[in-house]
Amino acid sequence: LLHSDNRSPGVDCGEFVRATATQLVLLGSTGSIGKSTLDVVRHFPDQFRVWGLSGHSKIEELLAQVNEFHPRWVVVTDPKSARDLSGQPLPDGTELLRGEEGIIRMVQDPQTQMVLSAIVGAAGLHGTLAALDAGKTVALANKETLVVAGQLVMNRLKQQPGKLLPVDSEHSAIAQALTGHTSDEVERIVLTGSGGPFRGRSRESLQGVTPEQALKHPTWQMGPKITIDSATLMNKSLEIIEAHWLFGLPAEQIELIIHPESMVHSFVEFRDGSVLAQLSPPDMKLPIQYALFEGKRPCGPTRRMNWSELRQLRFESPDRETFEAVDLGYEVIRSQGTTGAILNAANEIAVARFLGGEISFLDISRICRAVLSSHHYLPQPSLEELLAADRWARQEVYRWKSL
Ligand code: NDP
Ligand code: MG
Repeated sequence: LLHSDNRSPGVDCGEFVRATATQLVLLGSTGSIGKSTLDVVRHFPDQFRVWGLSGHSKIEELLAQVNEFHPRWVVVTDPKSARDLSGQPLPDGTELLRGEEGIIRMVQDPQTQMVLSAIVGAAGLHGTLAALDAGKTVALANKETLVVAGQLVMNRLKQQPGKLLPVDSEHSAIAQALTGHTSDEVERIVLTGSGGPFRGRSRESLQGVTPEQALKHPTWQMGPKITIDSATLMNKSLEIIEAHWLFGLPAEQIELIIHPESMVHSFVEFRDGSVLAQLSPPDMKLPIQYALFEGKRPCGPTRRMNWSELRQLRFESPDRETFEAVDLGYEVIRSQGTTGAILNAANEIAVARFLGGEISFLDISRICRAVLSSHHYLPQPSLEELLAADRWARQEVYRWKSL
């Protein structure tokens, strides 16, 4: 840390300097996490070189990013959108790649140093695995990768020199609180969750809620899929599974607490009775920055805690009868095998069908449970078997009608 400047009023903002810029590939750059990541990069123009970007359908947004950051690679995964972009002029030195092969080529480029994985859903799996296979440092927002294939990811991390850094705010908080400690010192971790837009509501009152109501998250601005996951609390279920793999803890050592203010991003309770937490206003730019700087803490673009306005921090137990998705995460940790792939795929399609007006809000968790109970369980699936389980679950969800 060098001398201070005044980028944030009232904050002594030391200037962090790394000798060379990190060459960063951003998967899912047109999404909510992607755009927040580029905000962080804009704040540190000398510290990162945007080496690659990927988008799926938002071609205008992607083109604007390409014209601003002049990456070596731009990948479009949706074939129609790739055709649309191929007619557009690109800056000198930027090359267009397509589809999953394009993602793999870009992340495995020897000049790529870090990959921020922020594609939504199981579609993010291949890019994340390819980056880990190539020994890259991966900042992981795409929690579905660990839900679908946590065991495979952990095995790969043991075999090559790559690193996995959490971006999800709860897991970033836990990683921060664990710094300097080992897992045998941990009594348990407690994931916080806002409770979403329907916190405190009865099951009966949720029967007729609309996608518009479910998309109004009280504290976080996020893409539509994770916003619905936050309303059903499936997001917490996915995060429990994510925490299990990242921190190597069994179901009994992972708890969940509802915290409507979204200021405390999780707790670690140690064997000696001490509890450490990480606090900050709800803004993904902070955990993104923490991952991009691999644990260093330069002064960034994130809002500060306003201690004079902070009145209370509330905590309450989750209502696991109304929000039955929570139990599914624990079931997946206990059963492992193909269950994570099934739960994730069933949820992705159920959320899409709810957003399309085909099924009700409560149907999402009900259908996920039904598909999970009826699937052909494999205890130690290969990647191909996980992908087959994913495909099966997606089709299965279409067979279910709304109650
Ligand atoms: P968004 O929906 O905002 O963005 C998703 C990104 O993925 C977009 O760039 C989109 O491209 C791209 N994409 C969509 N479908 C495909 C596909 N089939 N193949 C390749 N790319 C695709 O999601 P978020 O940014 O909110 O979330 C991204 C990930 O981060 C998720 O896994 C989520 O769980 C996780 N996360 C998000 C948080 C948040 O605050 N938003 C917090 C913690 C984790 P396009 O837009 O061009 O179609
Ligand atoms: Mg989270």
